[in-house]
Amino acid sequence: METDTIIVRLSGEIGVKSEWTRRTYEKKLKENMKHALSSLDLKPNAIVRARGRIYVRTQSAMETAKALTKVFGISSVSPAKQTTSELNDITQTALAIAETAIQENATFAVRCHRVGTHPYSSQEVCRKLGEQILEHLKRTRNLKVNLTKPEVTVSVEVRDKEAYVYAQSLPAQGGFPLGTQARTVSLLSGGIDSPVACWLTMKRGSPTIPIYIDNAPYTDERTKQKAIDTARKLQEWSTGHLRKIYIVPNGENIKAIQEKAPARFTCLLCKRLMYRIAERIADTENALGIVTGEAIGEQASQTMHNLYAIDEAATRYPIHRPLLGFDKLETEAIARKIGTFEISIMKAKGCTAAPSMPATQARLNAVKEAEAKLDMIAMVEAALQNAQIIEL
Ligand code: ATP
Ligand code: MG
Repeated sequence: METDTIIVRLSGEIGVKSEWTRRTYEKKLKENMKHALSSLDLKPNAIVRARGRIYVRTQSAMETAKALTKVFGISSVSPAKQTTSELNDITQTALAIAETAIQENATFAVRCHRVGTHPYSSQEVCRKLGEQILEHLKRTRNLKVNLTKPEVTVSVEVRDKEAYVYAQSLPAQGGFPLGTQARTVSLLSGGIDSPVACWLTMKRGSPTIPIYIDNAPYTDERTKQKAIDTARKLQEWSTGHLRKIYIVPNGENIKAIQEKAPARFTCLLCKRLMYRIAERIADTENALGIVTGEAIGEQASQTMHNLYAIDEAATRYPIHRPLLGFDKLETEAIARKIGTFEISIMKAKGCTAAPSMPATQARLNAVKEAEAKLDMIAMVEAALQNAQIIEL
């Protein structure tokens, strides 16, 4: 049987918000859903809000359901068939759904969730449908009821005069609707970590603006391309919020750092410069934080000592590090899921300015002393003057 409605379940965290906040979040979510669907040319007939749920009426249920699993603020979706709350209608619909969903020798269960007043209890619906499905399919299929661990669950949701029947639920991402939090800027490198950090930030509702610091000629064109391509990939999750990427040339600055500062501090000084550049772009973009893909100890520049030494460079905005406590494998698992991994691992020249023996326990005073020999303000200015914005 063709399904015609997607049941969209909102993230549990939205449900516990105050009435006003919840309504605001639901409205934003609805907008984002519309955007996500229209960007894929999926035109729903209607999107209807109800408490804790949004119903999407559509003629292309499966594609619509899949697209919605990428919209933040949704915990799961189910392509369902809508019917009336008359027990007879529910039964006929459930039989048709069961016919396609339950295979030979499968175990199944029926679940019912009911809101409103009806001449039957939820238990009665389960019992009746269970019996009917067994009876109806027994000639062709050898079925068994299993209430604890069924292979297929035929679910019925009754809401006042309407009912929905489904046998499939797709998990979504949870989080909050994008745009319910203030903006951030993100340092996006083209590597594995930073796109994941962007994604996690967006997942909690903050639209983020990626910044790539272009260290050419110490890195190559391919690294830049990877940054742009990961940003494009992240658009699939952004419901129209991710429109551009800043490309900021930094090669001349690295040259100056190499000439004037001890080699072991090259990366630390470069990072301090990056933070300052991000700070200035955050000003322009009305962003309220800077996101990076740093995780404790993942690189020499990410030891606790070194994070302390770079953090001090930009104090006007919080530096957000969503991956702080992640192991690499955990980060990679998300990168694979969100589709950036394949782009990030493409071959490119690593930064040739990185010293062979970088400081791992830099003292802030020593770093600042080295930095004093450089005109950091002018360096930030020069980089920003030559910055380019690429529309995604
Ligand atoms: P990633 O996997 O994200 O590239 P990494 O493991 O290579 O990070 P670092 O080079 O120390 O580690 O970078 C740490 C963080 O600094 C990155 O996650 C990113 O947020 C930021 N960053 C590093 N290089 C750049 C760059 N060229 N442009 C923008 N941001 C950068
Ligand atoms: Mg990293």
